[in-house]
Amino acid sequence: MNRRKFLVGSATACAVIGRGFSGQGMKAKGLKVVVVGGHPGDPEYGCGGTIARYVERKDRVTMLYLNRGEKGCSQRSSQECADIRSTEAKNASKILGTSTKFADQTDGESVISPGNYDKFFALLQAEAPDVLFTQWPIDNHRDHRAASNLAYDAWVRANKSFGLYFYEVSDGEDTVMFSPTDYVDIEKVEAKKRSACFAHASQSPERFYALQDEVSRFRGIESGRRMAEAFVRHRESADHLLP
Ligand SMILES: [Zn+2]
Repeated sequence: MNRRKFLVGSATACAVIGRGFSGQGMKAKGLKVVVVGGHPGDPEYGCGGTIARYVERKDRVTMLYLNRGEKGCSQRSSQECADIRSTEAKNASKILGTSTKFADQTDGESVISPGNYDKFFALLQAEAPDVLFTQWPIDNHRDHRAASNLAYDAWVRANKSFGLYFYEVSDGEDTVMFSPTDYVDIEKVEAKKRSACFAHASQSPERFYALQDEVSRFRGIESGRRMAEAFVRHRESADHLLP
């Protein structure tokens, strides 16, 4: 089966999965997972445990960042900061066993336009995901909202033919009004997630990881586990795509 066909709107096995087919044939080959985030670090903080669990079972994961976080270093030029944070993203990706891609927008200056919808759709089309994760659209950071919006538009344009889940980061500071529908147990992979988050050494991981760790523990309590990552599954997405 050529999974790339799904994005031109034809009915394919992936599309069938998206409508509740058992998916066993496809699962045997492994899933392709794409995790979209505004900045380097967002996919790792929001989904690092889930990503580690996918990779453990031989699914392939790409972290797709909207920008290189080039405004996020004090006393550095944008170029220097972009280089530092791109390297940090590569290091995190090595720890988790994923690949990385950048949409090459500008940190803090995200542009949603017809042209950028097209570009983002093309990036996702090249990845041919079976399941897509993106940031929750109600978020205090404009880049997170933009990443969510661009990913959602691509999903609609792809005829909703793959899974779609939203994730949370730095609740209260960034993500707000997030009521999960689904949970992934991350207790056994928390150390790996922590290392991937701390790979973003220029971004005060001791402070931000402490907050995300509280969120993981709370989501664990909420779902009857010790630590969990939580997601909102789109109602029209298949419900059996989490690890
Ligand atoms: Zn961010």
